[in-house]
Amino acid sequence: MKAPTCGTIQGCIEAFIEATNTNAVASAACICCAREDFVMLMMTLKTAAIPNQHLLKPNTPHIKQDLLNGMVIYKPALTGEMTTICHECL
Ligand SMILES: [Zn+2]
Repeated sequence: MKAPTCGTIQGCIEAFIEATNTNAVASAACICCAREDFVMLMMTLKTAAIPNQHLLKPNTPHIKQDLLNGMVIYKPALTGEMTTICHECL
């Protein structure tokens, strides 16, 4: 059995840092289902580009619903004009 080379050790360290850095573990909420997941597993898009918007519009809006363009959404997932959506809701 041989000791790992410096290149192997350095590669492992770089892979660990890449997998655990702030961007890799950042989380966000889905605008449709409010699920919180890793940002890298979600899609970031403009609110106007949310797919199937007609499915988010209630047939009978309720006075307590806070709608955006007629859609029931999870508003904390909004960041200005941008939002995140999980792959299950796409
Ligand atoms: Zn979702």
